[in-house]
Amino acid sequence: MIIVLKPDATEQQITHLVKRVKALGLKPMISKGVERTIIGVIGEEDVLRVQPLEIFPGVEKVVPILAPYKLVSREFKPNGTVISLNSHAAVGGKPLVIMAGPCAVENYETLLAIAKSVKKAGATVLRGGAYKPRTSPYSFQGLEEEGLKYLKDVSKKVGMLTITELMDVRDLDLVERHVDIIQIGARNMQNFDLLKEVGLSKKPVLLKRGMASTIKEWLLSAEYILQNGNFNVMLCERGIRTFETDTRFTLDINAVPVIKGSSHLPVIVDPSHSTGRWGLVPAIAKAGIAAGADGLLIEVHNKPEEALCDGPQSILPDRFAKLMGELKRVARAVGRDL
Ligand code: PEP
Ligand code: MN
Repeated sequence: MIIVLKPDATEQQITHLVKRVKALGLKPMISKGVERTIIGVIGEEDVLRVQPLEIFPGVEKVVPILAPYKLVSREFKPNGTVISLNSHAAVGGKPLVIMAGPCAVENYETLLAIAKSVKKAGATVLRGGAYKPRTSPYSFQGLEEEGLKYLKDVSKKVGMLTITELMDVRDLDLVERHVDIIQIGARNMQNFDLLKEVGLSKKPVLLKRGMASTIKEWLLSAEYILQNGNFNVMLCERGIRTFETDTRFTLDINAVPVIKGSSHLPVIVDPSHSTGRWGLVPAIAKAGIAAGADGLLIEVHNKPEEALCDGPQSILPDRFAKLMGELKRVARAVGRDL
């Protein structure tokens, strides 16, 4: 349930209420907004039948939440979450955030060349996997620590933020020391131990949707991260499995407005993995922004035919620069900045 406090509720009233909630064996999660404070209550709510919280001073209303997730729900935080990345960039506000780069970090020179071009075109965040979740154990698995170092060095050199995938809790410290945003991949969306660990991290997390997961399961996975204290979570729609075989996956465009309605978390669209085909990436990127996404995650490579991973879906730097111009017009049409 969610306790909505009156705009003029005093600190004393809030403390009194929080104390009472804890005494009932429930966990209060406080969210202080500009206008009012909201308290999410986690735990067995049956005890509240004998102790109604509506009667406490400072309380405006108590809203039961029917959805199984609480902290990620829009009711918990009616205004959308804005995740600050640094003093100039944030995800979830009016400006869109574009994350671009190769699927995998392959070597220093290639990463630097791609980073320079996507930065020039207007991308804010450099993507690149150092730990790759490959279907085959014989495929390139990533440069691991060396790849993280390249990401850090290159991003400093060109002035970008970074995002990389974390697959194993044992690599969390290392990843935290090298990048700005932690990506949890589609294949690990329900790796609950990993979710709990990144929930303890101070870094923003981009949680990709599992390829066979419902929106509810996806939001419950995000709930694991928020429950451990990390509220800086963005959700990335990257396509789901359907009967269609012309594309690698099927981008669930519905998910964008559905999530916007049921959750306060920012939404990112990945037109690369969802299509699997570079020629479709521009159209789907534009569709994502038109549907209300807060940003995009796009694979760009200067030699896609030589890429060690996901070449067929990687667009060339020139096409990316042209796309950025097209996206600006779409952004303006839907009231966003780019
Ligand atoms: C990736 O971003 O390179 C990736 C592996 O994505 P996903 O987890 O969506 O397949
Ligand atoms: Mn990829």
